[in-house]
Amino acid sequence: MRALTLALLTALPLPAAAFEMPEDEVEAQFISSNVVTVFYHELGHALIDVLQVPVLGKEEDAADTLSALLVHAIWDEDSATVIISDTAQSYALYDAEAQAAGSEPAYSDEHSLDLQRYYNLICLFYGANPEARKETAEALGLPPERAERCEAEFAQAQMAWGSVLQGLEPGSATGGLRMVETDPADPIAVILQSEIGDFNKTYGLPDWIDVKIAPCGQANAFYSPSERSITICTEYAEDAKRIYESIE
Ligand SMILES: [Zn+2]
Repeated sequence: MRALTLALLTALPLPAAAFEMPEDEVEAQFISSNVVTVFYHELGHALIDVLQVPVLGKEEDAADTLSALLVHAIWDEDSATVIISDTAQSYALYDAEAQAAGSEPAYSDEHSLDLQRYYNLICLFYGANPEARKETAEALGLPPERAERCEAEFAQAQMAWGSVLQGLEPGSATGGLRMVETDPADPIAVILQSEIGDFNKTYGLPDWIDVKIAPCGQANAFYSPSERSITICTEYAEDAKRIYESIE
């Protein structure tokens, strides 16, 4: 998903063992929230591939959209608010870090800019339930001129992804998500296993999509169409921890 500068990438050591979740509950939640939303984002790429979804516009934006929709659909109000706020905060932190380093915004990147992703995420979440989420959207700085269109943005996104997810009943197909090549005791694996279980209870797929945690040499997550696999890099959670701890 997000690209780091080369200097940062080379400075990151390869973690040797399972991720160690910090004891601080707010920090642990921040990391979990980001793992959940990046997993849903990669799931978006996987569904686009496996179901051959026609993509009108940027695939990265479509994947971000699915991530926001799944948080809204799957989690209760309080949990969803925390997950969205944490994910938005990580976009803001990565943006602030890049600005402090004097980096030019990643205009040529296939992803929208971090702050665009920040506002898009908040807008979709707010638009899904404007009455309940007005305060959250205001606290996160969603401008009123954008906010007034968010209900329509959500409805459009819901219709688009809803038509993709419709009919994917479990048992009606021959696949789903499955964890591979991963230490089940890794705290990030525990989070993913729970997501995989919930997904497979709700949806079926025409093929298997493998999900694994593996070192990649960068703080990222990938979907590989040739392997039909989602990889959450071990460095991803480490970097979420680092960016959280960078808050002064
Ligand atoms: Zn992506």
